[in-house]
Amino acid sequence: MITLQEILIKARQNGKAIGHFNISNVEMLRGILEAAKSAGGVPVMIGTSEGEAAYIGRKVAAALVRAAREEYGVPVFLNADHHKSVKAAKEAIDAGYDSVHIDLSKLPYEENLQGTKEVVEYARSKVSSFPPASACGTSQWRAGRFQVSGISVEGELGYLPTESSKIYKEEVKIDPASLTKPEEATEFVRKTGIDRFAAAVGNLHGIAANEPQLDLNRIRTIRAALPEQVAFVLHGGSGIPVSQVKAAIEAGMNNVHVSTEIRVAYMQALRQSLAASPDETTPYKLMSPAVEAVKQKVLEKFALF
Ligand SMILES: [Zn+2]
Repeated sequence: MITLQEILIKARQNGKAIGHFNISNVEMLRGILEAAKSAGGVPVMIGTSEGEAAYIGRKVAAALVRAAREEYGVPVFLNADHHKSVKAAKEAIDAGYDSVHIDLSKLPYEENLQGTKEVVEYARSKVSSFPPASACGTSQWRAGRFQVSGISVEGELGYLPTESSKIYKEEVKIDPASLTKPEEATEFVRKTGIDRFAAAVGNLHGIAANEPQLDLNRIRTIRAALPEQVAFVLHGGSGIPVSQVKAAIEAGMNNVHVSTEIRVAYMQALRQSLAASPDETTPYKLMSPAVEAVKQKVLEKFALF
């Protein structure tokens, strides 16, 4: 099986980005996978925040995505999005997540670095019980051990001021001091050994009243300083105008997170469906317009990325 890391590297070489979409339930997962399948098997990342993971259940989420990979035949990977403690990140790894995002960006630099490093070491120490076909018959395989876990780890440096669950009525001002400094980024990536790097480059979570202004020069400078195999992640993809997302991908971002827009599409369709059929008692009939709305929104994002 092709790894997430290989997919991200290939996306970057082709000037593209891989989409990361959060889910709260199986309907949202379905909408995303139907989009990925109908677009010809587009690789996709599914995220659960700590709240979403607690709601679905970490083991349930891991089993759902594993099964979906087989049923839909698309490369889909489950990421523990914005896990805010080493403990929570380790729990996600233990539950069978393909990837974790350890987000200690609110902590002082040194604490962020040490905690992120600890999660990378933990991920690397994990041996997969699902051997790649090429390993069959080797002594490692007979011993039931594999050196490569394939678990991808994302770290974050620089601070995003807002939350994904919100649509802000007011303007959000970004303090320049909260943006990622290129020199720190290089050191952070080298010392932690992460696979993906999330930075604060003028982006924010949720949707604000004012348009964010991405710092494209900062994106280019950080990208140039990152090792070749490390992916560069743009969070807060919901409120960013299309032209800026395109420019960010051109400048070197190869993984874009979208959550709020998916939530809004899902909830709007569900509210309409409930209002239109007040006597309907079959959940999947009420839910199917919401699944379709998620699918259409994700297809729109695939075209952009
Ligand atoms: Zn995020």
